[in-house]
Amino acid sequence: MEINQIYQKYKESSSVSTDTRKIEKDCMFFALKGPNFNGNTFAEEALKQGAKYAVIDEAQYRKDERFILVKDVLTSLQQLANYHRWQLAIPIIAITGSNGKTTTKELVNAVLAKKYRTYATRGNLNNHIGIPLTLLAMDETIELGIVEMGANHQKEIEGYCKIAEPDFGLITNIGKAHLEGFGGEEGVKKGKGELYDYLLKSGKKIFLNTNDEILKSISKFSDPITYPNPGNFYECSFIDASPFIRFKTEDGAVVNTQIIGSYNFPNIAGALCIGKYFKVPAEAANDAIASYNPENNRSQVIKKEDLTLILDAYNANPSSMKAAIENFAAMSTSNKKVMVLGDMFELGEQSEGEHRNLGKLIGSLKFDSVLLCGKMMKYASEELKSAKYFSEKAELEKFVEGNKLKDSTILIKGSRGMGLETLVRLI
Ligand code: ATP
Ligand code: MG
Repeated sequence: MEINQIYQKYKESSSVSTDTRKIEKDCMFFALKGPNFNGNTFAEEALKQGAKYAVIDEAQYRKDERFILVKDVLTSLQQLANYHRWQLAIPIIAITGSNGKTTTKELVNAVLAKKYRTYATRGNLNNHIGIPLTLLAMDETIELGIVEMGANHQKEIEGYCKIAEPDFGLITNIGKAHLEGFGGEEGVKKGKGELYDYLLKSGKKIFLNTNDEILKSISKFSDPITYPNPGNFYECSFIDASPFIRFKTEDGAVVNTQIIGSYNFPNIAGALCIGKYFKVPAEAANDAIASYNPENNRSQVIKKEDLTLILDAYNANPSSMKAAIENFAAMSTSNKKVMVLGDMFELGEQSEGEHRNLGKLIGSLKFDSVLLCGKMMKYASEELKSAKYFSEKAELEKFVEGNKLKDSTILIKGSRGMGLETLVRLI
C-alpha cells in the first residue's frame, strides 16, 4: 500500500501504537520486529483489543482489510512520520548531543509552551522508533515540534534527519559518550555533527553555544543563532550553583532555578536563546526556567534530615562524570562532601583508561569521602587509594546501611545499569 493511502488510515485512527500492552481504542498498530519478538504475531490481538488497523509485513498474518500489508513495518512507520511532518508543515527543532539532550528538550519545551502549542519527545523516545512516534503524536493543533535525537553510532542522526527533516538544530555538547559505538572521540564529533551537516545542506539554522570550542570548530554556518556570551544573539551569565543554579538573564533579571549543576547552565541558556528567537516574552521564558523541576533521577536533590542527596543515577559517561564531580567540588556547603560513584558503561577498550582518569581527577580535588562501586571502578580505586571500593552493589548497599552518614552532602552518580537510586532509601 502507498504511503498516502496508509496516511488516510492513520488520519482515521486515534493514535499510533507499537505495543499490544498499550492499545488505545481505534489506534493504528505497527507490528514491529525485535530481536526476540515478531510484532506480526500480535497484530490480531491488537485488533481484538480495539486497534482500528494493524500494519504488518508478513502476508500469512493478514485476515481481513483491517490488516495493512507493507514491505517493512519499521520503514513504513518512518515514512509515515515524515509524510505527516510535511502535512503539519510546522517548524521542527532537533536536539542532540552527548549529554543534556532530555534536560535541554524539556527546558526548550517549557519556554516555547509559554507562547505556542508545542509537542516535545516524551521521556527519552529518541531513537529510530521513538522519533517517528514523536512526530506521529503531533496533531493539527501543534504549532512547534521539539524532537530529541539520541545516537550511539555513525549515520544514525543522518537517518533521523531524513525522518524529521528539522528546520532548526541544537547540539548540547560533544563529549565522551558511547565511545564504543562511535569509534572514539573523533567518531562522536562526526556522528553528532551529522545534525549540522543536514541543516547546512538544506539551508536551515542552528542554535550555537559559543562557549563550546568543539561545537564552534565543527560549525560551518555563516550565521548561527548564538548564546550565551556578550555580543551574541542571546546573552546571559552564570552566578552560582549551590546546589541550584542562579543566573542573570539578558534583561538583568536574576533567576533562581530548581536545577543543579553548573553543567546545566548551557542547557538553560540554549532554551532561552530559542525562546528569544521564537519571540517568547523574556519574563515568561525566565518563569518557565524557574518553574522547571527535573524528574526521573536526572539531577534530583533529595533532603533527608541533615543529609542532602544529589541523585544523578540516570546515566554516566566520562564527560558527564567530570562535569558532575567538578561541579560538586566547587559547590559551597558547610556539610561533609561524600561521593558514591558507579561504573560508566559502553566505553569499550577505553573503559579502563577512562576509569583510571576518573580516579586521578577525584584525587586532584577535595572530598571528605569517596565510595566506588562496580567492576570498572576497580581501576579508579587503584588511582585513588583513599577511596572505599566495592566490586558488587550489594556490598555497597550493606556498607551505607551499616554506616549511617551525618551532616553530609552526597553525590550519587553512575550508569543507568548500576541502578544507584536504590541507595537513597538506605543512606
Ligand atoms: P540520554 O543519552 O540518556 O538520552 P541525555 O543526553 O538526554 O541522556 P539528560 O537526561 O538531559 O541527558 O541528562 C543526563 C545527565 O547528563 C545529567 O544528569 C547530567 O549529569 C549530565 N549533563 C546534563 N547536561 C550536561 C552538560 N551540558 N554537560 C555535561 N553533562 C551534562
Ligand atoms: Mg535523553
